[in-house]
Amino acid sequence: MRQVAVLGATGSIGASALDVIARHPQRFRASVLSANRNVEALVALCARFQPDLAVISDAAAEPALRSGLASAGLRTRVAGGDAGLQQAAAGELCDTVIAAIVGAAGLESTLAAARAGKRLLLANKEAVVIAGGLLRDALRSSGAELIPIDSEHNAIFQCLPSDRHSLAAAGARRITLTASGGPFRGRRRSDLTSVTPDQACAHPKWRMGRKISVDSATLMNKGLEVIEAHWLFGADAAQIDVVVHPESIVHSLVEYPDGSMLAQLGNPDMRTALAHALAWPERIESGVAALDLKQLGQLRFEPPDRDTFRCLDLAYRALAGGGTAPTILNAANEIAVDAFLAGTLPFLAIDELIEATLSDQPATPAPDLESLIYADLTARKAAQRIMQRSFC
Ligand code: NAD
Ligand code: MG
Repeated sequence: MRQVAVLGATGSIGASALDVIARHPQRFRASVLSANRNVEALVALCARFQPDLAVISDAAAEPALRSGLASAGLRTRVAGGDAGLQQAAAGELCDTVIAAIVGAAGLESTLAAARAGKRLLLANKEAVVIAGGLLRDALRSSGAELIPIDSEHNAIFQCLPSDRHSLAAAGARRITLTASGGPFRGRRRSDLTSVTPDQACAHPKWRMGRKISVDSATLMNKGLEVIEAHWLFGADAAQIDVVVHPESIVHSLVEYPDGSMLAQLGNPDMRTALAHALAWPERIESGVAALDLKQLGQLRFEPPDRDTFRCLDLAYRALAGGGTAPTILNAANEIAVDAFLAGTLPFLAIDELIEATLSDQPATPAPDLESLIYADLTARKAAQRIMQRSFC
């Protein structure tokens, strides 16, 4: 029986993960659940899943969580704050950790799980973008298994031999990440001057949290995924291609030198990746309907519009810059997306703010976590300053 910590249990990935776990009570148990500050939602999940431990990252909400659990008659233990989250990720109550917190906030718990040798099911792509090298080193020294949950990376993992997870070891030549194109596919910049957060979050194929939905609308999501693929599969930038595939049925592809291209297909539902990663190397039911090829009709593939959606090239630029450049990219993006969602930054200013922050903040080598955290904080301050000066 796997004891699973679901970090970010109240989010979109958290819900899909718990749905799969609930389908297999003989195999999996949700032993740790975490949320940022939504006490009510966390208590409701504890009532349903009876975990050993509930973690609330906002330590100020810990008393409310304790009393909420007590009034629901639950004996779930409680932890709070960043330290509580990291201890839970590394602690003995779980052998498997689903890293499904959004943004840099998930970095330290993801690293803690990797260092502690847990099976790490990774959705929190921002952690890899910020600290891919440290994460790789932590996995190597602890022997932890990482199985990607991001649908493209999960697809690539499935298209590589089961005992070889890097392109070089697999003898593979290139990977192609598919992108839906988001809600604004086909639009020009002049069409996007006054789009609203709700329009940006109305993704045509996937139902996700608001931050990743905006990232999909700007194509930054694909940019972050290029950097994620670099670290997870040892691929350099020239080996990572991006193609827009509006149907979101082919989740990504791996090309081999003999001319074979292997792809993983399925309906766009994250429970497939979660079920794959939870059970790997076995296969289990996920609740996702099988593809009906005869109903599908055409599958389209087209190049991304890099002039309208500039974030993709900014991510390639950060990957080429190395060191703290991806951390700076991610920090500026988080500031920009927050401001866009709050209604204080126009959609088209998102990539402009990120570009200005990358130009303002020179990348430096990133030998340890402290230097990455420092670069993250400094880039956030720079992005705020540039935003006040130039965009608000
Ligand atoms: P979401 O906004 O729906 O949920 C985020 C979760 O993180 C919530 O449980 C929230 O309480 C928690 N959280 C937020 N801020 C926090 C903080 N400061 N400290 C601690 N916890 C915090 O997001 P999501 O769509 O589930 O995405 C989660 C991660 O998975 C992201 O990194 C995203 O890029 C990645 N991902 C999501 C999908 C998807 O389909 N939703 C697909 C691929 C990858
Ligand atoms: Mg993805």
